[in-house]
Amino acid sequence: MKRKRKYKVRWNRVLVTLLIPVVFLFLLYFGVIKDYEQERLLKIGYSKEEIGKLREELSSSELKQLSDYSYLSFLTELVKLDDFQIEKLPAYIDYILELEEDYNLDNVVYLVNHNITHPYSEKLVNVVKNEYFIESRLDRYMQYDSDDVKTIITNVNSNLDYEFYTNIQKTDTSKGVLLLVNKYYQLDSDYYYGELVTMDKAYDNKSGSQLSSVAYEAFKNLVDDAEKEGYHIRNNSAYRSYSTQSGLYNSYKNSNGLTWADKWSARPGHSEHQTGLALDVGVKNEYSLGTFESSEEFVWMKDHAHLYGFILRYPKGKEYITGYGYEPWHYRYVGVDVATYIYENDITFEEYYAYFVENS
Ligand SMILES: [Zn+2]
Repeated sequence: MKRKRKYKVRWNRVLVTLLIPVVFLFLLYFGVIKDYEQERLLKIGYSKEEIGKLREELSSSELKQLSDYSYLSFLTELVKLDDFQIEKLPAYIDYILELEEDYNLDNVVYLVNHNITHPYSEKLVNVVKNEYFIESRLDRYMQYDSDDVKTIITNVNSNLDYEFYTNIQKTDTSKGVLLLVNKYYQLDSDYYYGELVTMDKAYDNKSGSQLSSVAYEAFKNLVDDAEKEGYHIRNNSAYRSYSTQSGLYNSYKNSNGLTWADKWSARPGHSEHQTGLALDVGVKNEYSLGTFESSEEFVWMKDHAHLYGFILRYPKGKEYITGYGYEPWHYRYVGVDVATYIYENDITFEEYYAYFVENS
C-alpha cells in the first residue's frame, strides 16, 4: 500500500519557487540599471539635482548618450527651453562644443533647429532671423562686408555683392508676369510676355505702341479711372524689341558714354520694355519724361498705380539696388497683389523677387 500513496503536488510552493527568481530579476534590472545610470552621470560630474532635472526631460537611452561627453554645464538649461527638440540633442551638443566664444542658448537652439552649421556669431543670428533671409544665400551674407544686417540682406538678395552685368543669368520666364529683368537677368532676344497688342490712341501719346495684353488691360483701367478724376495719363514708350533697345542703348553710349548709358538705359536683353510688361508714362500730349515728376498725374500715379497692378520700378533712394537712376515715369506690371505688397512695404522688385519668387 505504501507504494500506491499518491504524491500530492503542492502548487503554492511551485508558484513561489518560480516567482522568486522572476521578482529577483525584475528588481535587479530596474534597481541596478537605474542606479548604474545615475552612477555614471555622477562620475561625469553631474549633481543629483541636475540628474533629476535631466531625467524629467530625457529618456533612459538619451541619458545614456551623455556618457559619450564630458560634463556639459549648459545641459539642464538646454533641455528646458521651449524650442528644444529631443532628436536634435547630439546636434546641439556638437554645435556648442565647437564654440569658443559666448553664446546665447536660445539662439543656438534656433540655429540648430534651422540646420545652420556656420560658427556662432551675433551677425549670423541676426542674419538668419531676418524676415527676408534666404538660406541658400547664407555664405554670401556672411561674406558681405557690412555691420548692418538689413543692408546685408537687402544687398545680397538684390545680388549687389556682384558687379552689375556680371554673373548674368537667363531670366526665368516661367515666373510669368513676375519674371525679373535687370542687370543680372537677361532675356532671349526674341522674348516678350504673352500676346502683344497695339494700344489705342486714347491711351497713347504716340501711335502704334504695343504692350502685352495683360498689362494693357490693366493700364486702360488705370487711365480710365484717372480720367474720371481729371488726370490725363498716357503711354510714352511701351514694348521695345531687342534690336530697338540695342539701337537706343548704343546711341546713348556713343553720345553720352558708357556710365551714363548704363545708368539710364538697359543693355539689349536687359530692358523691361522688351517684356511688354513695362511702360514709360506721361501726361497727355507731353512727350518729355523729365517733366512728368512735377505733374499732378505723377502724384496720382505714385499712390494709385499698385491698385491696377503696376509698380514704380526704379524708385528714388533705391538706385543702388535697381541699378538705374530714379525714373518717376517707368512703371512695371506685376499684378495687384504683388504691386500692393511692394507699395506697402516700400521694397524694390529685386528684393521681392529674391524672397518670394525665385525659389517658389
Ligand atoms: Zn522705361
